[in-house]
Amino acid sequence: MESCELTIIGAGAAGLAAGIYGARSGLKTLILEEKMAGGTTADAPIIENYPGFQSVNGRELAQKMVVHCRSVGVEIHELEKVVNLDLKGNKKKVKTDKTAYEAKAVIFASGAHYRELGVPGEKEFRGRGVSYCGVCDGPLFKNKRVLVVGGGNSAAITTLYIAELASEVKLSHRRGMLRAEEALVKALENKNNVEILWNTEVKEIKGANVVGKALLFDNKTGETKELKLDGVFIQVGEAPNSQLAKKAGVNVDQKGYIIVDMWQRTNIAGIYAAGDVTNHPVKQIGTAVGQGITAALEAYGYIRQPYYYKG
Ligand code: NAP
Repeated sequence: MESCELTIIGAGAAGLAAGIYGARSGLKTLILEEKMAGGTTADAPIIENYPGFQSVNGRELAQKMVVHCRSVGVEIHELEKVVNLDLKGNKKKVKTDKTAYEAKAVIFASGAHYRELGVPGEKEFRGRGVSYCGVCDGPLFKNKRVLVVGGGNSAAITTLYIAELASEVKLSHRRGMLRAEEALVKALENKNNVEILWNTEVKEIKGANVVGKALLFDNKTGETKELKLDGVFIQVGEAPNSQLAKKAGVNVDQKGYIIVDMWQRTNIAGIYAAGDVTNHPVKQIGTAVGQGITAALEAYGYIRQPYYYKG
């Protein structure tokens, strides 16, 4: 069994920030990431609210964090999935699909996954016109007709990105106003090929081999109509990747988010959480970074017990 002092689960913004602070504090730090490092930051076509970067491509920002993290000595194991955890006691055991590790402290920075809309046709056409990631699949819809579903920042950013590629983009939202930030709403209003379908609910996604149309319900007028299209991007929020933590005894809230205090501590000594997997109400790259830093510094105190650590 390999051993390190601090093991971080997830290499998104929170995990990478935690890694930098863990390693620079002198902790032998390992990050385990089941996909490629970068997290959902890398999926963002453009980021315009991370301090210091007026406008940056998500992949580029994520890559800078990864390079920074490795440069200070953090080991990042990509494509290595955590499959089981034993967190009780002083030695935390982390089993992956490749090997097993022992750590003195663990930070969950496992992020969140895209929520499904839950309508007929969604599963059937996933990968055949239904997508959850604009950056990954947007280029497939060059000069095509696309529907984006949702009303938050993700839906707005995805719509703006797809509008640069597709011939026409419709954004359907179940309410009469968006919850996306004002700068994004204004940018949407200035796009000629974007139309917002207010008070509209997607009831079904239809097609033959690939997506061909969607059944839309206007919840103000009660009308139902079919819209011909080539692709549907679903952006209706996120759900936490906390199943393993929960199974290992970490307390989560009703929606499955890991409950943390102001030091990012969970209910188990030596176990922390940071970023989108936590019950922190704000889900931003900046707040994920801040929480990752706090978790790493608190883990350092817990592991090394410096004279100034109050516990
Ligand atoms: P979100 O803010 O939770 O918004 C989800 C949207 O989907 C809401 O408008 C919601 O409608 C709608 N929705 C949920 N379930 C639905 C359903 N079954 N049918 C139809 N519509 C449904 O999610 P997000 O946009 O993915 O963002 C997640 C978090 O990341 C947020 O905290 C967000 O601020 C943050 N984020 C920030 C940025 C940025 O700052 N650049 C970028 C991306 C994400 P209602 O409004 O009616 O509830």
